[in-house]
Amino acid sequence: MQFRDLKKQYQVLKSDIDAAMVEVAGSSQYIGGPWVKALEQELAEYVGVKHCVSCANGTDALSLAVMAWGIGEGDAVFVPDFTFFSSGEIVSAVGATPVFVDVDENTYNICAESLEKAILKVKEEGKLTPKVVVAVDLFGLPADFTKVCEVAKKYGILVLEDGAQGFGGKIGEQVACSFGDIATTSFFPAKPLGCYGDGGAVFTNDDEVKALLESFKVHGKGAMKYDNVRIGMNSRLDTIQAAILQVKLKAFKDYEVADVNKAAAMYDKALAALAEAGKLKLPVVPEGFLSSWAQYTIQVAERETRDALQAELKAKGIPSMVYYPKPMHKQEAFAGCTQTDADFPVTMKLCDTVLSLPMHPYLTQEEVDEVAAALKAFLK
Ligand SMILES: *Cc1c(COP(=O)(O)O)cnc(C)c1O
Repeated sequence: MQFRDLKKQYQVLKSDIDAAMVEVAGSSQYIGGPWVKALEQELAEYVGVKHCVSCANGTDALSLAVMAWGIGEGDAVFVPDFTFFSSGEIVSAVGATPVFVDVDENTYNICAESLEKAILKVKEEGKLTPKVVVAVDLFGLPADFTKVCEVAKKYGILVLEDGAQGFGGKIGEQVACSFGDIATTSFFPAKPLGCYGDGGAVFTNDDEVKALLESFKVHGKGAMKYDNVRIGMNSRLDTIQAAILQVKLKAFKDYEVADVNKAAAMYDKALAALAEAGKLKLPVVPEGFLSSWAQYTIQVAERETRDALQAELKAKGIPSMVYYPKPMHKQEAFAGCTQTDADFPVTMKLCDTVLSLPMHPYLTQEEVDEVAAALKAFLK
């Protein structure tokens, strides 16, 4: 069994993907060009924002956002303690200070109450200026942007939606990657919308920010390419990836988001009895939210159970992953961080108890049943 079956997806889309790759190869246009522009337009349209600026990966997308805002030394950027490293790395990379915030036990996303407390603490200490909150759409579920944006507005800070895992999710009719002042995503192969290598994109409605993003991603270019007005980076989405993504975006819109939600419903049903018996906790999608299910992540009682369960699944040929075993505040790279375990009771617990199961739009009922049977045999 595959954790995320990209081979199966390729088999389904093979003729279109092969044709797209061959077309790019024959065009001799390998950087930029009509494929990249067309994809940016399609992505912006799907997400429902004015501008999409493609780039080399999801980490660069986040970096470009904080660069465009001029975030740097003395600035506090609030980041969930339970996320992938990039969400905080890009803060330190520009010389600003990440301030970690605990998450919600049900949604795994940043807790708005904890965010407000963290902002107040920073203000009280008076050393840093609160500037940005990075709200991550973890495991495919959009963060609670109504609450997050309310807190952000109250304290005058910007919202950066890290939609690397959230592409395709929704709150009501509003699509993920449209919630922040800037939003970003990643096209790493295993993300909800992945390419065949690295890729990323930045989304915004702000014309000035868009112009800055276009400059920063091309060595800080000015009016023309060999006029450099600021220190930027080199961050491009390859033409061949854009062509592949056009094919995959169509499948994503036509049926993949719907099918991955069907797979989640199969798990919910197959695991309902175990959840009712208190043996595990199922992922929670709040009323009105839609997840794009980057991960289907359950919780068990404690670390020993989780680790033994994972070993048992592995012995039965069922892959599973621990996202994430270590909180951000404990990462050696953030050694200067003065926050302690006591600040993050939920994240500390989740790092010990979460387990992500095989999940993708091509998952079958038989596969779900096989995983459910293995969980039942071990946990009952
Ligand atoms: C994957 C991921 C990123 C980084 O994306 P890359 O394309 O790998 O650079 C950032 N944030 C989150 C939450 C991610 O899951």
